[in-house]
Amino acid sequence: MSRSVLVTGGNRGIGLAVARAFADAGDQVAVTHRSDDPGPLERAGLLPVRCDLTDPGQVERAVEEAGARHGPVEVLVANAGVTRDRLLLRMTEDDFAAVLDTNLTGAFRAVRAAAAGMLRARKGRVVLVSSVTGLLGSPGQANYAASKAGLVGFARSLARELGSRNITFNVVAPGIVDTDMTRALSARQRADLVAKVPLGRHGAPREVAAAVRFLASEEASYITGAVLPVDGGMGMGH
Ligand code: NDP
Repeated sequence: MSRSVLVTGGNRGIGLAVARAFADAGDQVAVTHRSDDPGPLERAGLLPVRCDLTDPGQVERAVEEAGARHGPVEVLVANAGVTRDRLLLRMTEDDFAAVLDTNLTGAFRAVRAAAAGMLRARKGRVVLVSSVTGLLGSPGQANYAASKAGLVGFARSLARELGSRNITFNVVAPGIVDTDMTRALSARQRADLVAKVPLGRHGAPREVAAAVRFLASEEASYITGAVLPVDGGMGMGH
């Protein structure tokens, strides 16, 4: 059965792989993007909706636009995220607030906008893209780790608040995945990170997408408040 799916930050990287995985399975998928040419997204069978997650009005409109084309959003994947890495004494108030605003408050805005329709339908699936960093911590990433740890408390609170309405909230925690975000690291930094991965390699975006799709599937109907690592074993034990 085709569902209405919305993926934030679905124009590239993990979000695009997630969007493609849902579309390949026959769902109707809207993706938020900020400035990309929407042409390639449309040609891939996705509905591009322009939205900066730091703007509450744009988030509301994106959910409405997806709903107008595909019906109320039944599956929301809050994937968009940024880093602004700095050691603590160099981290400004703005570095901290900006990362929280996109990664955590942005997810809140998207969930709140989509939840009204899910409550009316008495069903819904929300998957939040966190990170192994949110659970293990990482020097130079206190802002990012705080935002990603925050998603776990956020999801678990909503799993309790809205479980009786048949809406599930789960988190995936990727390790090091080959996207623009990690390509921005130096070769040395990447090699050091990969050395901490028992499987000895980066993850591919489609490997994260498979976990997201599972958590949004009928097969996962009794899973809520879970954190599913997709990290090659990097965070084992957290
Ligand atoms: P990319 O940098 O490749 O993509 C980030 C996505 O987020 C882009 O679509 C970007 O849109 C979007 N985005 C950023 N800020 C905003 C905003 N204010 N409003 C709307 N969209 C925004 O990253 P990845 O694909 O690697 O990361 C996807 C998610 O996975 C992130 O939450 C990240 O933290 C998480 N993650 C990634 C890991 C990795 O190793 N790659 C590991 C663990 C977690 P635009 O194109 O407009 O910039």
